[in-house]
Amino acid sequence: MLRIPADEARIGGRWRRGAGAPAPTVDPATGRVLTTVHAVTAEEVAEAADAAARAAADPRWRELPPHRRAELLHRVARLIDEAADELAALQTADTGKTLAETRALVASAAGTFRYTAAAVETAEESITPARGDYVTMSAYEPIGVVGAINPWNSPVASDAQKLAPALAGGNAVLLKPAEWTPLVSLALGRLIGRALDELGLPAALLSVLPGRGSVVGDAIVRDPRVGKVTFTGGTATGRTIAHAAAEKLMPLSLELGGKSPTVVLADADVEQALAGVMFGVFSSSGQSCVAGSRLFVARELYAEFVGELVERARALRVGPGTAPDTQVAPLVHHDHRDAVAARVDLAREEGGRVLCGGAAPDGAAYRDGAYYLPTVVEGLPNSSRTCQEEIFGPVLVALPFDDEEDLVAQANDSVYGLACGIWTRDHRAAWRIARRIEAGTVWINTYKQFSISTPFGGMKDSGLGREKGRDGIRAHQRQKSLYWGT
Ligand code: NAD
Repeated sequence: MLRIPADEARIGGRWRRGAGAPAPTVDPATGRVLTTVHAVTAEEVAEAADAAARAAADPRWRELPPHRRAELLHRVARLIDEAADELAALQTADTGKTLAETRALVASAAGTFRYTAAAVETAEESITPARGDYVTMSAYEPIGVVGAINPWNSPVASDAQKLAPALAGGNAVLLKPAEWTPLVSLALGRLIGRALDELGLPAALLSVLPGRGSVVGDAIVRDPRVGKVTFTGGTATGRTIAHAAAEKLMPLSLELGGKSPTVVLADADVEQALAGVMFGVFSSSGQSCVAGSRLFVARELYAEFVGELVERARALRVGPGTAPDTQVAPLVHHDHRDAVAARVDLAREEGGRVLCGGAAPDGAAYRDGAYYLPTVVEGLPNSSRTCQEEIFGPVLVALPFDDEEDLVAQANDSVYGLACGIWTRDHRAAWRIARRIEAGTVWINTYKQFSISTPFGGMKDSGLGREKGRDGIRAHQRQKSLYWGT
């Protein structure tokens, strides 16, 4: 039985109802209201920031050696494992995702805490060789209070990616979930709160602050006690936050949008490429920052490949995230489904041919849910809005290319630079193209594989900075150089 956490925010380490406006959270598979979450106000953000600054400076936390912070992270990982079924069910209800996906995201969240615990336990500071009559050392110190702002598409995994390194770095965190999906972040806040209590650590090391971005998110970014913001979301929001951060000269990490190319060369293993391209754009119903939403196929293979792709896209089973055979679940919200539908209308207006999908599915079973069929469009130039702008839904636009120069020019002709996938049997071609594509991550003969130990982030309008990897902890610290004379 799914338990929805009580409608309370965690403000300065204490649970209480936010004093801001109530907002219903809706199950996108049914349109049913799950619960009503009250937003916090800007004043409550200030209260949480004040408590967080005191918690970060509390000797119980400040003087805890880094390897002891690892204990907190291990404990959180264990609590996530114990609550895994409940967290997965809650995330499926809140985001619409399939249970298979939310189970994997919960496991990845626990893995992130475990990896980060191991990384902080074994972190070393370096003494540099003397260049004179002294030695120098680089020390890493906590920033103090970190603001973590997340989107709605994979809340539990993105929360873990922000919370684990920020806590491992010795900071307190103000976590702001997205308006449409606050429930898993609130549930995770309960687990972390329990771990803090059990270890006798300050409760205000974590606040979870639901509410609107323009109020709660903005108050977090502008608060003078917040020394870093780690943000994942849209490029326009990232730019707004960067402007506010510039006023404070505050470091930022920005994981933003994408319009990632998937590339199929003429010699590719067609089965492998079809599976990878389909997974790249239709898994998570396309609501993934790295969705491979622009497909480039070598002209000689184009008709055959796209024909087969369309057949398979038509055969995908669309249904609720709770049904074990569902392959494409509803979108996160009815408003988002309508926005995706409007994007496909625009593709038609631009002269695109919709080869499959292009509508919500028919039938009573789909009537109340935020469903949209897997869609493939062709016949548009790379300069069209459909090819240039992020749709964040199950919509693929297919284009042929003539040769490597043509491919690289088209693939790089985008404001974004988040990810790319290449399918070929020619490892030299894969290497050449991978090095020429402007993207933070390039997958070769695979797609959407993630390792917590491999840095992740974007180029160009897809972001600033990198998350994950051992350096993820350093990104939440300040470096200090110490000199000893002899
Ligand atoms: P969004 O930018 O609208 O919102 C993201 C978060 O920012 C939300 O919590 C929102 O409340 C908050 N916010 C909004 N305005 C703010 C402001 N002025 N100040 C501070 N916070 C503010 O994005 P979304 O629609 O929730 O998510 C979809 C976007 O996220 C897509 O563009 C997608 O590509 C991107 N995304 C990127 C990555 C990545 O790692 N690069 C991962 C997932 C999603």
